[in-house]
Amino acid sequence: MKNLFFLLFAIVLMACNSSVNGQKKPDQPTKIIFLIGDGMGLSAVTTGFYYGEQPSVFTRFKEIGLQQTSSAKEKVTDSAASGTALATGTKTYNGAIGVDTSLVPHQSIVELTASLGWSTGVVATSTISHATPASFYAHVEQRVMEDEIAAQLLSSEIDFFAGGGLARFIARADSANLLPLAAEKGFLVDTTKLAAVGSLEAGQKYGFLLAMDGMPLMIQGRGDFLPDATSLAISHLSQNPKGFFLMVEGSQIDWAGHAKNTEYLVSEMLDFEKTIAAALDYAEKDGNTLVVVTADHETGGFALAPQVNEENPYGNYAELGPVFATGHHSATLIPVFSYGPGAENFKGVYQNTDIFHKMAALVKVE
Ligand code: MG
Ligand code: ZN
Repeated sequence: MKNLFFLLFAIVLMACNSSVNGQKKPDQPTKIIFLIGDGMGLSAVTTGFYYGEQPSVFTRFKEIGLQQTSSAKEKVTDSAASGTALATGTKTYNGAIGVDTSLVPHQSIVELTASLGWSTGVVATSTISHATPASFYAHVEQRVMEDEIAAQLLSSEIDFFAGGGLARFIARADSANLLPLAAEKGFLVDTTKLAAVGSLEAGQKYGFLLAMDGMPLMIQGRGDFLPDATSLAISHLSQNPKGFFLMVEGSQIDWAGHAKNTEYLVSEMLDFEKTIAAALDYAEKDGNTLVVVTADHETGGFALAPQVNEENPYGNYAELGPVFATGHHSATLIPVFSYGPGAENFKGVYQNTDIFHKMAALVKVE
């Protein structure tokens, strides 16, 4: 009996030890896919329920939170300050990329997970040097410094990138061509098309720059670039047994809001939903992948209002007639959807900066 007690005691001690000796905690993800719908407020999230042909992908989430997006100085944020908040956990001024209000650079989730040996990637439908993706790997005073941001990408921890913005590498103000530098830094860069899923070599760095500026609009025939680039990134980065961090941005939901164009917005949302579905399908099979979906802010003050026209001056509640309250961003709270190990930590109402801190707490090895 006494021996049995000591045996149990020893087992408990060993169990305690293993949790503090760099072992994985039970709710600790080894992979994170962070999807950002730029400008995606709750009405944008709702569009799939009315305009989609499939059930909305958002019905697949059980853990939901809300985040406040205001920057350090402005009630209404821009994508640089909110991108920096999400990527580094630091509130800053509108325009800042990866630096605080005193211009001090802050470690991003890409840099943190890379320090753990994880592979990292960014995918966007804007230029890859645009404010949202830039916040994850660059540190500059102003988002407009895209030539400098593109140079920083090549020296960053990023192992995979896909998006637009070739001009920032080959048609720069300083006339430099960054493609030879990219090769020097170990990147294989393709400017014509995405590779086939499963065809990329483990440990090799890849870049896909498939438009001079932003990628084409969905309504102009972009096709499946975003879901395909996301699947390609997952298949490549998951070859690292230590883990990976991937940021995917549906960049143009925001541009549709600025343009006050419902057809543009709905098409970009349906494309983003398809991309989220690809991430969730992988996470469900894998079991160690945390998926977090949110926005950096809302754009357009978009509302799914009833149809109002000459025949229905008081509103036809049987049909939708979406409206935009502004051509700018708005300060409304933004939903956060999470799935996988650690997902329950994203429930509640909190600041955008908390999302970085929640991820950081989950990945840190004790
Ligand atoms: Mg953006
Ligand atoms: Zn915007």
